[in-house]
Amino acid sequence: MNFHVMTLFPEMIENAMKVSITGRAIDNNLLSLNTYDIRDYTLDKHRRVDDYPYGGGAGMLMMAEPVSRCYEAITNKINKKPRTIFLSPTGKVFNQKICEDLAKEEDLIFLCGHYEGIDERVLEEIVTDTISIGDYVLTGGELPALVMMDSISRLIDGVLSNNVSASDESHSSGLLEHPQYTRPAIWHEKEVPPVLLSGNHKLLSEWYRKESLRKTLINRPDMLENIDLSELDKKYIEEIKEELES
Ligand code: SAM
Repeated sequence: MNFHVMTLFPEMIENAMKVSITGRAIDNNLLSLNTYDIRDYTLDKHRRVDDYPYGGGAGMLMMAEPVSRCYEAITNKINKKPRTIFLSPTGKVFNQKICEDLAKEEDLIFLCGHYEGIDERVLEEIVTDTISIGDYVLTGGELPALVMMDSISRLIDGVLSNNVSASDESHSSGLLEHPQYTRPAIWHEKEVPPVLLSGNHKLLSEWYRKESLRKTLINRPDMLENIDLSELDKKYIEEIKEELES
């Protein structure tokens, strides 16, 4: 996967991506990260990238021309026009399904806005996907781009040491993950659920399923409407509801 990021703050992207799992994946050539400072593509001698919005209103807008020239430089360099994601609170809300879909691409371009956003005309020309990371407003698109690149990276073969861990997690199966425990077996007088020490795989998988259903029912009941529940799942849910009421 090759990430190309158009931003006014390349160091913010580079500093965050070069550590931990993504940093190791870059070092191992499983990912590449290419940042482009949009300011380098202005024709203005003061390297100005913003201007007042037509029609008035608070704040400044990023101008179309530097963004367009930056995009051309990337697509000329790699000789293709990959999916180009504009990070914006006006976009579709990012989720694991979108993440899985994007992880299939070979190259992705991210366009990070700043100030009050970007002139719509350049967005119409270059953007294929407008994505929001949630219903709140940030100062720039860098953190959203990092959120997306981090979660996409985890799905690239070899990035995580154990591929199973990506497929077992919250949202991959349509449910939230069950609680997890590590040593010691007793901590602050709280015991790890005995089934986890039993070594009985059938009991373990039943416990995992029921506890995933419990977490989802309590924290995200809306998710249960979007998955096919087996008869056993429905029985577990009834049991959980009774346990919660008692
Ligand atoms: N005026 C814009 C609006 O009301 O939709 C908000 C602009 S915001 C202050 C500046 C930039 O931050 C946006 O262009 C976008 O790139 C980024 N941004 C802010 N919130 C975001 C979110 N929830 N998801 C993705 N990007 C976001």
